[in-house]
Amino acid sequence: RAKAAGRRTWRFFEHSMEAELQERLAMEADLREALPLNQLEVWYQPIFGLAANRLSGFEALLRWRHPTRGMVSPGIFIEIMEEIGLIEVVGRWVLEQATREANTWPAPLKVAVNLSPLQFRAPDVAATVLQVVQASGLAPQRLELEITESALLQADGGVAEILAAFRNTGIRTSLDDFGTRYSSLSYLRSFPFDKIKIDQSFVREMATRHDCLAIVNSVAHLANQLGMATTAEGVETAAQLHAVREAGCTEAQGYYFGQPETAKELRRWFEEPSRAAPFLKIA
Ligand code: C2E
Ligand code: MG
Ligand code: MG
Ligand code: MG
Repeated sequence: RAKAAGRRTWRFFEHSMEAELQERLAMEADLREALPLNQLEVWYQPIFGLAANRLSGFEALLRWRHPTRGMVSPGIFIEIMEEIGLIEVVGRWVLEQATREANTWPAPLKVAVNLSPLQFRAPDVAATVLQVVQASGLAPQRLELEITESALLQADGGVAEILAAFRNTGIRTSLDDFGTRYSSLSYLRSFPFDKIKIDQSFVREMATRHDCLAIVNSVAHLANQLGMATTAEGVETAAQLHAVREAGCTEAQGYYFGQPETAKELRRWFEEPSRAAPFLKIA
């Protein structure tokens, strides 16, 4: 009897694994079609400058509009795209879209684009990015590349050289999701990033937890001492905005200022700024 139950359990397990595998394969097949079928979109989330008290730019965030799955979050599919070798082509497409779109925005608004570790590791990354930016017509100074710590771990050497190559062309670089992985102070010493993006997990609880407040305060101070700017991610409330301002962060980003929006919606804002939230006014 026990054996039978055991077998049933195993069978059930087997079935769910099988279902999971099928789902994964279906997802991969759909992902390969996503770009050719025009299902990918780049959305833009405002980033607010705390010193000037005005909009400083937008972060480009990939979206997948699937006919039956709905809007799929990059948290779900970016990793799969990396695993099946799609991220290079899609990442380049995001960069092309974002730089072209940003070139239609009022200067000096910037665009921040996420770079996958796999893109960052490509031997000709600096030349490729520069080529795309030049083709878009956007001034390189208006582009920021967001790179996570995992990219630094995975790149076998040459990180400082790549960052220096970007810097020489005027393109800025940000260390994204700082504090979530194997954050090492030696990164900050060795790698010339222009900006640190403090992860939203710290920002979310800074108004209620002393340890998070201490971490954000310290990272902002440290960055400042090192001549780097800081963006606080995930600012959702006025209390959090107050706290990151007090901490001395340079910029803030989060639902308090705005959700990611389509390029089309942004164009409407620029044509008619009264449609945008008051703090997003550009003129
Ligand atoms: P990220 O670069 O750290 O982007 C910020 C994420 O936080 C975005 O999620 C954004 O929608 C979300 N967010 C912003 N403000 C708030 C807030 O106030 N509260 C909360 N709870 N969340 C907020 P999203 O768009 O789902 O992207 C997730 C991650 O996927 C990004 O994290 C980035 O690592 C990756 N990603 C997005 N687009 C691209 C891309 O084009 N290329 C690559 N390689 N990765 C991308
Ligand atoms: Mg980012
Ligand atoms: Mg981030
Ligand atoms: Mg993040």
